[in-house]
Amino acid sequence: MQTSFTLAQLADPDIAEADKILRACVHCGFCTATCPTYVLLGDELDSPRGRIYLIKDMLENDRPATEEVVKHIDRCLSCLSCMTTCPSGVHYMHLVDHGRAHIEQTYSRPWSDRFMRVLLANVLPYPGRFRAALLAGSIVRGFAPLFDAIGLKSLAAMLRLIPARMPARSGYERPQVLAPQGPRRARVVLLQGCAQQVLAPSINAAAIRLLNRLGVEVVLAEGEGCCGSLVHHMGREEQALAQARANIDAWTTELEGGGLDAILVTASGCGTTIKDYGFMLRSDPGFSRKAARISALARDISEYLVDFDLGFQPRSGGLTVAYHSACSLQHGQKITRQPKDLLAKCGFTVRDVPEGHLCCGSAGTYNILEPEIARNLRERKVKNLEKTSADIVATGNIGCMTQLAPAIAVPVVHTIELLDWACGGPLPEALESLDDSVNKSRRIAVAS
Ligand code: SF4
Ligand code: SF4
Repeated sequence: MQTSFTLAQLADPDIAEADKILRACVHCGFCTATCPTYVLLGDELDSPRGRIYLIKDMLENDRPATEEVVKHIDRCLSCLSCMTTCPSGVHYMHLVDHGRAHIEQTYSRPWSDRFMRVLLANVLPYPGRFRAALLAGSIVRGFAPLFDAIGLKSLAAMLRLIPARMPARSGYERPQVLAPQGPRRARVVLLQGCAQQVLAPSINAAAIRLLNRLGVEVVLAEGEGCCGSLVHHMGREEQALAQARANIDAWTTELEGGGLDAILVTASGCGTTIKDYGFMLRSDPGFSRKAARISALARDISEYLVDFDLGFQPRSGGLTVAYHSACSLQHGQKITRQPKDLLAKCGFTVRDVPEGHLCCGSAGTYNILEPEIARNLRERKVKNLEKTSADIVATGNIGCMTQLAPAIAVPVVHTIELLDWACGGPLPEALESLDDSVNKSRRIAVAS
């Protein structure tokens, strides 16, 4: 694709990067076929190619974002399916991140949209505030239809996502070091996360148990916070970079202190962003080197565990698991095989989901900010999951779990919860709802 940036524009490293990305696109349109919003809406401007043109036009002309551009960029899930499909290696993620930051700086949103975005950016990344907001929201959840009726659809969507029951706080909400069983084989940081530690503390608890049993010392680092992806995807660049820097400092202290073999992440949306810290901070002289070092150490939990002998003896009576591949894992990190291999090694029968490349509609805060498209994608995903007739749905991202669990009859769990259970950990709470006979056969199988 030809571009027409001036030399003065190209002196800005962000514009130079955008120019490089745009020039790689040969506008073949292969990406449109696997873009969830194009598949649903059929509008070229809701396809990757259409969005690339919109961003190109906005940046080349150094124009403030228009309502039209904002509508189509906001509808992008950042699922990165287009990057998997693109034969020319167009780095759509970096381009749309740049586009979103430009929108944030140049466009004045309607008050209700601004309110929601400020609320989300100042609540979700902070576990204490998020827990308080969930408690408050659970009191007014019944008013969701009213908010829908008066046009506050995002507020209504947010209330509908509040879980019926809040899990108890886990003992892992403070910095600490979890010692391995037996001799130490490795030392890792485990990202504590923000929303996940409130919504499903059982995920990191399962990861810690399994890692400790495998001889891995787990550090919950002092000074760590949200990875920054929630606000990064809203174009709030400075806030995202501040959160990234805080984590980099916290983990560098551990790296240079006790040493680290990896930085492990159980929420794949966060993992994709942490692996991108090196790029995000490439122009920051105080952080570029440290950021690149941290990104190189980041691993999804499944990516890390796949090389371990889990010590599990395959037993009969395995349950069938529909593996829902989170977009941030399959498209963002290109991790597709490892979670399925681990589940199969642990005796589960793993089933692929039809249209597995399409997003479930969660996408960070997307299911709150674009509730209608998110709902359509969820319905489509649930139908495809049901086609597998599996006993359980497993996935590697809390966002997908929150999006899918209320809409499907079978339990939705994190992959690590199944692995921990199969290797001697407790039965995941979500599986207690399984039919007694299935449960019994599994308990017998695990105990045998
Ligand atoms: S598939 Fe790649 S090269 Fe083709 S239009 Fe899409 S982004 Fe451009
Ligand atoms: S990131 Fe996903 S929704 Fe956005 S353009 Fe690419 S495929 Fe479409």
